Amino acid sequence: MTKKIYADHAATTPPDKEVLEAMLPFLNESYYNPSALYPEARAVRAVIEKTRSDLLDFIGGGKDGRIVFTGSGTESINMALHSAVSGFRGKNRILVSSAEHHAVLNCARSFKGDDLTIEELPVDRYGAVSPDTLKKHIKPDVHLVSIMTVNNETGAINDTAALCRITHEAGAKFHTDAVQALGIMPIAAKDIGADYISFSAHKIYGPKGIGALYAAPSAPVYPLVMGGNQEGGARAGTENTVGIAGFGCAIEILRKQQEDDITHLANLKKIFLEEIAPIPDLLINSPSSGAPHIISVSAAGAEAEPCLLHLSMAGILASMGAACNASSVEPSHVVEAIGVPAEYKRGTLRFSFGRDNTAEDVKKAAQALAFVLKKLR
Ligand code: PLP
Repeated sequence: MTKKIYADHAATTPPDKEVLEAMLPFLNESYYNPSALYPEARAVRAVIEKTRSDLLDFIGGGKDGRIVFTGSGTESINMALHSAVSGFRGKNRILVSSAEHHAVLNCARSFKGDDLTIEELPVDRYGAVSPDTLKKHIKPDVHLVSIMTVNNETGAINDTAALCRITHEAGAKFHTDAVQALGIMPIAAKDIGADYISFSAHKIYGPKGIGALYAAPSAPVYPLVMGGNQEGGARAGTENTVGIAGFGCAIEILRKQQEDDITHLANLKKIFLEEIAPIPDLLINSPSSGAPHIISVSAAGAEAEPCLLHLSMAGILASMGAACNASSVEPSHVVEAIGVPAEYKRGTLRFSFGRDNTAEDVKKAAQALAFVLKKLR
């Protein structure tokens, strides 16, 4: 049987074995409700609080920053945007980049009509917003700016510290979606200065269904779900102790391994780019200075969907830079925003490598891409 090569780590990562082991007790003997008062339950509470302080420390959030556990990166983003917007007075514009994840775009768009206007900022060829672009659009009537740290389709990295500075100088709040950045680059929340930063565990070899929102000391967090007083009143409902334990373990592993991961991924990216260089009519949508785990390519005269089917038959699991709907595969909003030429758009594919991939895997993926394109063009 062909060895499966997983090249879709930007979609989700395989949970680390240690993470699974760390979670198991909380499904089993440590099932207690962390709000209960007996020692068994307090031990569960202690794991939640340790994960909270470990994550805060890992992202450089300082002693006074806040971490709220949520159900996903998407929920963290919604919580950040709702919390930021709920205090708006007189300032009625929200700026987001046009290459944001739909969690940001659709949440921001849902505010339209509440006397708020949403503007999508143009991005460069790779999906980043330049500080000059933000300077041109920001005015004292802007209430909130949300620009992602790493683009999930191209790997483009935004200069969040510079963007946040410009935002604060204009008197607005700043959120960054760092779901694709965690574990891929060091994050220093205090240095960036962001009011809110969103994270998700399943992109760092942790479990699905658990995310986190960082909030700066001065940034209010309002609940999306009402009920009990869990998470300091920011998110009602019994905590996902299993997920939080897994998130904590994934952070612990990153603490030891992030630097090696980054070096390894950068090497894989280099090899992949070298191997695909001879393929004709192939555009690279990922900047060389971008995140090391994502390589987006657009092939002229090819359709992404059959390419992916053929790649998966060869054991390569990749994805497309396009959103599917029932009858057609339309180029994604990111592919549109970065201006991929018409003849290349529909042939956009994303390869995202991870900790367990080898140089051999990456070469095989590149060879399979060359073969499939030759066959289908
Ligand atoms: N933001 C980015 C940049 C992402 O890549 C993703 C997931 O693909 C999300 C947000 C959503 O995270 P989650 O799947 O945890 O809701």
